[in-house]
Amino acid sequence: MTRPIRKVVILGGGTAGWMTAALMAKVLGRQVGIELVESDDIGIIGVGEATIPPIQQVNAVLGIDEADFLRETKATIKLAIRFENWGAQGDSYYHTFGTAGRNLAFCSFHHFWTRARKMGLGGSYWDHDLNYLCAEAGKFAPTQGNDPIWDMPYAYHFDSGLYGQFLRRYSERLGVTRTEGMVGDVQRAAGIGDIMALVLRDGRVIEGDLFVDCSGSRGVLIQQHLGTGYEDWGHWLPCDRAMAVPSERFATTLPFTRAIAHGTGWQWRIPLQHRNGNGLVYSSRHTSDDEAARILLGNLDSPALADPKIIHFRTGRARRQWNRNVVAVGLSSGFLEPLESTSIYLIQSAIVRLIHLFPHEGITPELIGEYNRQSQIEMELIRDFIILHYHANNRRDSAFWRDLRLMDVPERLARKISLFQANGTLVQDQYDIFMEPSWVQVLMGQGVLPQDHHPLADGPSDDEMRAQLAQMAELKRRPLAQLPSHDEYLLGKVGVAA
Ligand SMILES: Cc1cc2nc3c(=O)[nH]c(=O)nc-3n(C[C@H](O)[C@H](O)[C@H](O)COP(=O)(O)OP(=O)(O)OC[C@H]3O[C@@H](n4cnc5c(N)ncnc54)[C@H](O)[C@@H]3O)c2cc1C
Repeated sequence: MTRPIRKVVILGGGTAGWMTAALMAKVLGRQVGIELVESDDIGIIGVGEATIPPIQQVNAVLGIDEADFLRETKATIKLAIRFENWGAQGDSYYHTFGTAGRNLAFCSFHHFWTRARKMGLGGSYWDHDLNYLCAEAGKFAPTQGNDPIWDMPYAYHFDSGLYGQFLRRYSERLGVTRTEGMVGDVQRAAGIGDIMALVLRDGRVIEGDLFVDCSGSRGVLIQQHLGTGYEDWGHWLPCDRAMAVPSERFATTLPFTRAIAHGTGWQWRIPLQHRNGNGLVYSSRHTSDDEAARILLGNLDSPALADPKIIHFRTGRARRQWNRNVVAVGLSSGFLEPLESTSIYLIQSAIVRLIHLFPHEGITPELIGEYNRQSQIEMELIRDFIILHYHANNRRDSAFWRDLRLMDVPERLARKISLFQANGTLVQDQYDIFMEPSWVQVLMGQGVLPQDHHPLADGPSDDEMRAQLAQMAELKRRPLAQLPSHDEYLLGKVGVAA
């Protein structure tokens, strides 16, 4: 056990650094002092614009008003991701944040739908999902009401630079100290090897008890000084580069992200209030940077606003997220490509975990062990979910997709796929951020359809089934007529012209 933790030093002022500062200041600000060190010369990665619904919890804990948030980060609403050309070229499907239909008596809706499909009843699974219906219609307003059937979980797209600055202002108001400067070295405790202080290039020394490494993919503390090691997952997820470029905004703002598969990777399109974010994620073994630029710039729907920027990354995780008195949060802790917009969520989850397991009276091996155990499982489960998108494909156009279809996947994922294929069974893993509706949509969207339904779905007669499904689809559609367009909603909230 080390000494009590009275001062936390955060290294890095990107999304990870400022989110850590804001949440810690809000929750632990009376017990610990917080100082954040960042280098203006290095800057931030400057991507990371799409989120998933748990971001709402961050705003709720921080007490952030949605209109302020939308205005200051130039955010738009995200109801889903539309995956185009993934299962097969020409196909598209949505992974929405919603739930299709209504589950009945221990039996999930997709079992009834699978039975209906075998009966030859037409209709898409997604016709029973309000998030999908609104995404397609370009409509949005919060719908939480009397009946959970109309709940429409949503997240945001935002400008990552503006988001960091928004959180910085918030954190500084709560007393977080910001120090500008580049860390050149650290002081370590003799014998135990804990970090005692950061040493800036100009000689200033920043002392602390616990250090949160938010220094991005450099991993200045967790890797460069502590040599924690890295587990590489590139053999399952071969993309290792991204090229990003902003482009002019469209007249109509889509309330969803687009993820468009190409021959050796995929392209994102993220609508913001003032511009679109675009990027190509690709494998450098299969595509040169010149070829990537040609694909990216040739597939923009509006004029580019800058030159493309290349970002190198390595998929995997630090072998320990918490090592000695350093906790890695954000890109320093590992990276999973942005296909399901999970990195900012992983930052949030890491901070919440650290707050739960905070070593007020001193760091113990038990706290470190538990933190690392949870972090590892959580990241592996997201990894598996992302692998599923690549592996379950029927694309015939390149060796890239063929090799991914034929590769061995992690055993837990292989089991999940075959259980689902047999009769739609899914088992929820603890710490999996993706719940059953997400797995169902991506499995079925990628072409993995259950061969049978669960016997519990045999309860209703054929006629009852037919009537219930029609009624469900009608019920789900009901709020649509009253909802404003996404642009009208933004206009009402922040005064952005459509
Ligand atoms: C192509 C791509 C697309 C992405 N898209 C998404 C997305 O849509 N959704 C999502 O959730 N996530 C996304 N991410 C991930 C997301 O961008 C990051 O998780 C997020 O920006 C957090 O980054 P960070 O704060 O860890 O690192 P950075 O933004 O790199 O910040 C690092 C900070 O450390 C400081 N620093 C580094 N070294 C030193 C030093 N020696 N001294 C002082 N300061 C130092 C820097 O100045 C900087 O302030 C994407 C990532 C990539 C690569």
